[in-house]
Amino acid sequence: MSSVNSTIQLITREQAENGTPGRAQSSCSTELAKGPWEFDLAEALAGTPGYGPGASSADAAPAATPRQGQLPQEYKDASDDELESRIIAAKAELGDRVVILGHFYQRDEVVKFADFVGDSFQLANAAKTRDAAEAIVFCGVHFMAETADMLSQPGQSVILPNLAAGCSMADMADAPSVEACWEQLEALYGTEPDAEGRVPVIPVTYMNSSAALKAFCGEHGGIVCTSSNAATVLEWAFERGQRVLFFPDQHLGRNTAKAMGVPLEAMPLWNPRLPLGGNDAVTLQDARVVLWQGFCSVHKRFTVAQIEQARADFPGVRVIVHPECPMEVVDAADEAGSTDYILKAIDAAPAGTTFAIGTEINMVNRLAAQYPQHTIFCLDPVICPCSTMYRIHPGYLAWVLEGLAAGEVRNRISVPEATAVNARIALERMLAAKPSAARRA
Ligand code: SF4
Repeated sequence: MSSVNSTIQLITREQAENGTPGRAQSSCSTELAKGPWEFDLAEALAGTPGYGPGASSADAAPAATPRQGQLPQEYKDASDDELESRIIAAKAELGDRVVILGHFYQRDEVVKFADFVGDSFQLANAAKTRDAAEAIVFCGVHFMAETADMLSQPGQSVILPNLAAGCSMADMADAPSVEACWEQLEALYGTEPDAEGRVPVIPVTYMNSSAALKAFCGEHGGIVCTSSNAATVLEWAFERGQRVLFFPDQHLGRNTAKAMGVPLEAMPLWNPRLPLGGNDAVTLQDARVVLWQGFCSVHKRFTVAQIEQARADFPGVRVIVHPECPMEVVDAADEAGSTDYILKAIDAAPAGTTFAIGTEINMVNRLAAQYPQHTIFCLDPVICPCSTMYRIHPGYLAWVLEGLAAGEVRNRISVPEATAVNARIALERMLAAKPSAARRA
């Protein structure tokens, strides 16, 4: 199977020659065929950061979003084959001094050089097994590199090949907005525990958030969750708190709490631009989970109509979606689960199973290639990768690796120790949280 990038290049060529893609597939933007450095430059000239073409392109990037300086011309001009040879040579020269991590959603042209491929937390932990490595090159997005930095050994540097590879969902909750929300909730709820010793509200942040927000949770009795352990973490939080403030992904929070029996009317949405998040005091008093108004633009693309179409085209198809998808999509699917869940479900299925998957296209295509005994396709017929993951091109990987080989650490991601100390507390609470006996059964 060809990579997502080569399919996008083909679609774009056909469109330029014939005025139409000429194939069943199409992409959400012909701009995806360009080198990401064109967007680094365009954003620098405009003086405003952006997310580039792809699923998050319409999301507003905060002014403080990190920007990438210009990639030297030789890397922009290099052919794919030349970049590949340079990456292989630099990696060989560096040997055990470097470990390359590739997220499931990263493009194939980069992932093929990774020593480990996985989700953000698996990768941060994988890096620990290579404690001899001086540098960890994280081919994912900014918050993932921050987590790897906080969990890595002192003296190891974590490198993000393109600093513009952020995450629009993570950027939807920043520390000042969450602090302002917290102040309002504390003013409303007070700070006294109830008769069972439960505090009024516990902050829970999804792994897809800045280190500053993980630190906020560590400081305020809160915890981090991933899409694999969100239910266990909510149980942990409900044992200690009357309510949960969940950020930044409303969908993961809603889907998880709903599956645990929390009614929708007890899950108000918090809009950070409005007083009390746009709610009245009574609604917030009755809340069990206050959901931050964030979302992932990749997973927001999946719809119930796509599921109906998949079922019409492939009777008996097994539909699995990621819990960052909207509630009605999760409800209409056969199953919902993290990237790890999806991978294991496909691995365990009898040969000949047909899967329609609701998650990022690079991962879905890779699974289709890895499991030829099944039919696996993405629910969304339009090719629209995560814009920010896509900002990491082999040119940037070659640039940071050759820099390392020459003794220069480029694009280091470093979390201040004062932040990391509190963030690690929230991460450690997550690692210690265990599912209840009822959920284990
Ligand atoms: S897929 Fe969504 S949540 Fe993941 S990095 Fe991209 S924008 Fe962020």
